[in-house]
Amino acid sequence: ELALETRDLGKRYRRTWGLRGCDLRLPAGRVAALVGPNGAGKSTLMALAAGLIPATEGRIEVLGRVPDGTGCPRGVSFLGQDKPLYKGFTVAETLRMGRGLNPDWDGEYATRLIEEGAIPLTAKVGTLSGGQRTRVAIALALGRRPRLLLLDEPLADLDPLARDEVMKTLMASVADTGTTVLLSSHILADLEDTCDHLVLVAGGRVALSGDVEDLLAAH
Ligand code: ADP
Ligand code: ADP
Repeated sequence: ELALETRDLGKRYRRTWGLRGCDLRLPAGRVAALVGPNGAGKSTLMALAAGLIPATEGRIEVLGRVPDGTGCPRGVSFLGQDKPLYKGFTVAETLRMGRGLNPDWDGEYATRLIEEGAIPLTAKVGTLSGGQRTRVAIALALGRRPRLLLLDEPLADLDPLARDEVMKTLMASVADTGTTVLLSSHILADLEDTCDHLVLVAGGRVALSGDVEDLLAAH
């Protein structure tokens, strides 16, 4: 079973191709790192999978369905670089809002990340550190109980310690649920110890994709 499949997928912006000739098969249940230099096409692939932009050519299937390009397909949660958080709300209010917006909301699933990060529920989001804010944003995304969680550069604003902690908690949160995770980074070192699948993109194409241990053993 594939969580994400693309064939000859292409996305053209006005003049440049953000992605072209992209072939990817991501098995369900993996925690996959989408790695590549800036401009490689990571955000474009994420946005296509999240149904936020339409493909120019080729084919994409997300959880066995073709996204219609008008929003997140059912079962998919997307967290982009702009975190959907309001500084003046407390953590508890933020989670409550998540529950209000999502009929399938699972509060336990969401609060685990918050508790493991020792974030006070009464704290205003604006007073939290970058790592804590990232945790709250991921908790919101996880609360929707997605089958596919897309995280675009979730570790970008964090120091190495916080990156490590957020990854560990994320792994623990999805381990028992079978959620497929695809998270992008331009720093491979952050992810090679925690992810079990690696997708390398360069120049708008998938250069390499496979099981991390197999790939590392082959090098
Ligand atoms: P990455 O996330 O790996 O940094 P992107 O998907 O953001 O890569 O970008 C891939 C290519 O598409 C780059 O050349 C980028 O400049 C271009 N691009 C991305 N978004 C847009 C846009 N909205 N308009 C025009 N070009 C874009
Ligand atoms: P990323 O590398 O993660 O894509 P960027 O800083 O490249 O982040 O992009 C931030 C925003 O600017 C995105 O919405 C992207 O689509 C847009 N963008 C990126 N490159 C271009 C470009 N060449 N022209 C117009 N918009 C762009």
